[in-house]
Amino acid sequence: MKALTFTGPWELDLADRPDLHVTGDDDVVVDIAYCGVCGTDLGIASGAYPVAVPGVTLGHEAAGVVAEVGAGVGTVAPGDRVVINPTPYCGRCRMCRTNRINHCERKHGTESGVSYDGAFAGRYRTTSAFTHRVPDRVPLRAAALTEPLSCVVTGVRRIQPASLAMNTYVIGAGPLGLLYAWMLSLRGLTPTVVERSPARLDFARSRLPAGSRAIPHLRGDEELDIVVDTTSHLLEELLPRMAPGGTFMSIGLKERIASIDTMLIGDRSLTVVGSIDSLHGSFEEAFHLIASGRVPAERLISHTVPLADYRKGFAALGCDLDARRLGPAPEASCKVLLMPGEHVA
Ligand SMILES: [Zn+2]
Ligand SMILES: [Zn+2]
Repeated sequence: MKALTFTGPWELDLADRPDLHVTGDDDVVVDIAYCGVCGTDLGIASGAYPVAVPGVTLGHEAAGVVAEVGAGVGTVAPGDRVVINPTPYCGRCRMCRTNRINHCERKHGTESGVSYDGAFAGRYRTTSAFTHRVPDRVPLRAAALTEPLSCVVTGVRRIQPASLAMNTYVIGAGPLGLLYAWMLSLRGLTPTVVERSPARLDFARSRLPAGSRAIPHLRGDEELDIVVDTTSHLLEELLPRMAPGGTFMSIGLKERIASIDTMLIGDRSLTVVGSIDSLHGSFEEAFHLIASGRVPAERLISHTVPLADYRKGFAALGCDLDARRLGPAPEASCKVLLMPGEHVA
């Protein structure tokens, strides 16, 4: 099978790897149909998120069709359409036993597609607890957005607005930005999305929840009650502008050193909060919201390209692997899906 592997910053390789098969009783092997390109993948590819293990297959937002199951698996069978939860946890370590399974100490690294082989490949091997059946009426393309939405469900739970009238901003109209806009809206807030790329702004405008708007930049006089920064870049600039009782959430995964006045945090009762990964049923909640149409996942997909054309897919998101440059998205891109198996329905 083909697998998109990380060999070092700016070095991705479409490698030939042996086909995966079941090795344990609880194993499930999935033929991957779609796997989304995540900001994490761009960060890894460009060296900005220095966590990936060289040699690893990238990709963690996948859906496909079950190819093989171990003898003890009763929940899914070959031929079933499934979506994959790429964030295993042990249930026994200190993090798991204190309700922080997203930071499990024994998920052999941080996440599949980062520290062990992920799903930008013809096949992916996992276990039964981390595969979820997708009903026929739900397109696999849409199901592939379950993992990023699950991360957003986790994040939005950490924002406790004092009032639904709070001025809410999401910085960045990439997939996470738009998914945050939808989840904050489902929670009753009315987020404004801020995006400096005109092409992305255009794409976002017709895909926002009712009442939300998209603008090219913040004005100097906006009163900021809740800010979700998907870029990693704006804490230093925006924290001094946060209104009392406000919440600044940072979810980007790019290294950035910021200098902030800690007095502001106490003096203005500010909350600075981060969030990552799936937690306590967020994956099921995300899948429900996609399957029920409450979040229009499929409309957030801008590109679907064969795995062999991964350079095009990454370039659409501003990650130019040839020029070794990571910048703003040059075109109207949002969620880009790679197709490892064009034969998989
Ligand atoms: Zn991701
Ligand atoms: Zn654990």
